Amino acid sequence: MSRSAGCDCGALKVTCSAEPKLISLCHCLACQRRTGSPFGIAAFFNRSDVLVEGACTAYERPSESGFPVRFHFCPRCGSTVFWEPQRKPDMIAVAVGCFADPSFPRPTQAVNAQSRHDWVQDGF
Ligand SMILES: [Zn+2]
Ligand SMILES: [Zn+2]
Repeated sequence: MSRSAGCDCGALKVTCSAEPKLISLCHCLACQRRTGSPFGIAAFFNRSDVLVEGACTAYERPSESGFPVRFHFCPRCGSTVFWEPQRKPDMIAVAVGCFADPSFPRPTQAVNAQSRHDWVQDGF
């Protein structure tokens, strides 16, 4: 199944031509800051299954795994649409919210529960 993810303004688009290998919900404080939301959710795809169209700006930061993560966001509207975890160089992570699809498969794991907001339940 092919799915498209996009930024808020539509200038940056990512098309994923296969199913995600992993869907990870992250409660960490860095994801909270990046998204402006209490958690972030990433769908990991094989790099060869992902096509990126449009301009993007990169921001790289270290992660708790010890490997940096390179985030790509729309230079116009600022949505972070996808990122490259150096720990998984053959994978691309795509922000699940950018698919704007309430029927997108649910997360397969949740990480960094130590910073989960009290009212949030992982629900799977
Ligand atoms: Zn945009
Ligand atoms: Zn995180």
